Amino acid sequence: MKPEFKVHPHVIDLIGRLHAADHEGYIVGGGVRDLLLNLEPKDYDIATSATPSQIKRIFRRQARVIGRRFRLVHVRYSSIVYEVSTFRREPTPEERVAREDDDGVVIWRDNQYGSREEDARRRDFTVNAIFYNPLGKGELIDCVGGLSDLEEGMVRTIGEPAVRLAEDPVRILRALKLVAEYDFSMEEDLRQEVSRQGEKISQASSSRLFEELLKIFAKPYSVKTLAVCRQFDFLVHFLPGLDRIWDEKSGLLLRRLAAARDRRKYQGGYWKSRRLALATIAFPAVLEELGIDDPADFNEVPFEEDKTIKRAIKDLFAPLPLPNALIANVKDLILLFPRFFDQEEKNINQVVRNPQYRWARELFSLCSEVLEWAPEVSEPWPPSDAGPPPRGRRGRDRRRSRRGGRRPRQKPDSEE
Ligand code: ATP
Ligand code: MG
Repeated sequence: MKPEFKVHPHVIDLIGRLHAADHEGYIVGGGVRDLLLNLEPKDYDIATSATPSQIKRIFRRQARVIGRRFRLVHVRYSSIVYEVSTFRREPTPEERVAREDDDGVVIWRDNQYGSREEDARRRDFTVNAIFYNPLGKGELIDCVGGLSDLEEGMVRTIGEPAVRLAEDPVRILRALKLVAEYDFSMEEDLRQEVSRQGEKISQASSSRLFEELLKIFAKPYSVKTLAVCRQFDFLVHFLPGLDRIWDEKSGLLLRRLAAARDRRKYQGGYWKSRRLALATIAFPAVLEELGIDDPADFNEVPFEEDKTIKRAIKDLFAPLPLPNALIANVKDLILLFPRFFDQEEKNINQVVRNPQYRWARELFSLCSEVLEWAPEVSEPWPPSDAGPPPRGRRGRDRRRSRRGGRRPRQKPDSEE
């Protein structure tokens, strides 16, 4: 088989320039996984033999060296940033100098450069460690059995699951994400370790976990991922507040709202809508906190309830560190909701000028969809620019499947 995939021209250019300077350069991680599964990659991670300063020399002002924990380089092509990292290896026990990261969590210094094969072996799962060189005839390099696991749809750690999860408990969440997003199965030993070590997630860096959460919301499988976390008894350790209400009335509403948001996201909408994502999840919990049983009864802006609402949002996502500004935005967005029931022209004119309108209108529209409100309820509210995807990204999967014969990603669950 000649592995020739349609790869973004930026990536071809980027890797071509690495090669021209006598360095190795490959696509690795989720990008290769998606290409092999006939899906359009969401983004591309690049691995290279070049060191950060060599990368900087090649790409000059296009490149920015970042990272304290390990240094990597962001290479910019117009508005798109590609992450380019130098091959690394696992540090030896002597090199493992423990230190504390920003959250006070003990981590290991792991910026030891290594060979391509060492770089593959320090990665988390076999399906995430396949290298692809898109130049020339295209070349796949798999030193860990990732290709056959991908074919089988199997999540398997590289090395002993007990050791690899203990080293970095964030990998537990990453394994569950693969199960949810791709309908993969989990290899038996890994499955057992996920149950055994789930509670260790509380030792992981909360800012890294928050990043993983945002990545869950950036894809159209958020409900499915949270449901898989719960199925593996992991949600109780990861987001205990959410786990607590999951089977309650508010939990059911949040799952239905989030599933509706996933479906719209799958169709290409809601690009970068983290505040809408968090509001969709938090809205039912906020209503409960305010003693409101049905969203249709939320038709008055509650005065002096700012603190209560903020606390409800914070508690739901605890122990993850939501930035205060984000909590305030989610709260303001939710507080605009009651005003959508007032269809007086004066009110409409005021509300559409509110900076939160674009998101609040979507929350109202999601609610109206899942609760099957009459169309007249939403009619006077003009579509917001948060609804349709930005130019050039509309219906990515669908368009790609027509042009390049790629099959679209699996559809998000219709019922949750
Ligand atoms: P996606 O970006 O679609 O969510 P991904 O697998 O590309 O999935 P990234 O967070 O972009 O995830 O990471 C890129 C690659 O880096 C992974 O595929 C994996 O090879 C490696 N990686 C990421 N996190 C870890 C980790 N905690 N331990 C070991 N390797 C990791
Ligand atoms: Mg990635």
